[in-house]
Amino acid sequence: MSNLDALPGMTDVTRSHAVPEVFEPREVPLGGLRAMRVERVLPQRGLPTVGAWCFLDAFGPHDVRMRVLPHPHTGLQTVTWPLAGEIHHRDSLGSDVLVRPGQLNLMTAGRGVSHSEFSVSDGMLHGLQLWVALPVERATMAPAFEQHVDLPVYGGVATVVLGTLGDVTSPATTHTPLVGADVTVDGQVALPLRPDHEHAVLAMTELTVAGIAVPRGRLLYLGTGRAEVVLAGSGRAFLLGGEPFPDDLVMWWNFVGRSHEEIVAARAAWAGADELFGTVAGHGGARIPAPDLPGVRLAPRRRRAAQPPEAQ
Ligand code: MN
Repeated sequence: MSNLDALPGMTDVTRSHAVPEVFEPREVPLGGLRAMRVERVLPQRGLPTVGAWCFLDAFGPHDVRMRVLPHPHTGLQTVTWPLAGEIHHRDSLGSDVLVRPGQLNLMTAGRGVSHSEFSVSDGMLHGLQLWVALPVERATMAPAFEQHVDLPVYGGVATVVLGTLGDVTSPATTHTPLVGADVTVDGQVALPLRPDHEHAVLAMTELTVAGIAVPRGRLLYLGTGRAEVVLAGSGRAFLLGGEPFPDDLVMWWNFVGRSHEEIVAARAAWAGADELFGTVAGHGGARIPAPDLPGVRLAPRRRRAAQPPEAQ
């Protein structure tokens, strides 16, 4: 709990949630000529992060092509985790790779990177894309890309995509203590948790999590203070967790920062084709333009203040 105690003005933020709490995703169109719809699971109003995880989109399964032209990122890591179909990733570092189910693409944006993601062929596409916020001291680090094709498995049931679950640690580079694991449930599965971390479970199929029936696509936020979570049923889930993130983040479009000014500068750099974001080969200069900024200052996303149960 020392990490929570160190947050000025944010004492007990995690426990201010009536945990466990089920969050519904919202459907949003992803950019591109033929917009693909995704289910945005995180951030949620009042729940901007789970550990350093600050964004979670689930897509599919549906018969759709992913066509995401070059676009920039700052201040985060992107985690691409396909469940069906193949995705072609190209970035401004010169990476040009396919990622398949069971494999992880991890791109660290740091001070700035750009990338494109296209599905390889028609057919079923299903997967998750998540972002991990970088801690302030790493937010402007040099960009990097890594792919992992042989991730370790905890207890024969949970692929440890990022971070540590029990005594199993993913080889992927992380910058804060966290966990991300793809869990197969057939009967009952108990996963060890760090009580000083907060956790949430995305039910990719209907499952019972911590005794609560969680419909497909919903996120069950568990808060801190748990040594394990039990998943029951038949299906699949994604476990997210980590040390509660200390900073209020300003998130806009594809940028994660800590101030309005930081985001404005990143947008201007992309709009001005600044070398900060490099170029992604193979698209003939095509790229996703930055949307207009809102006419107001961008505000940090904050955790929900404590509310009495009757106010809900
Ligand atoms: Mn992206």
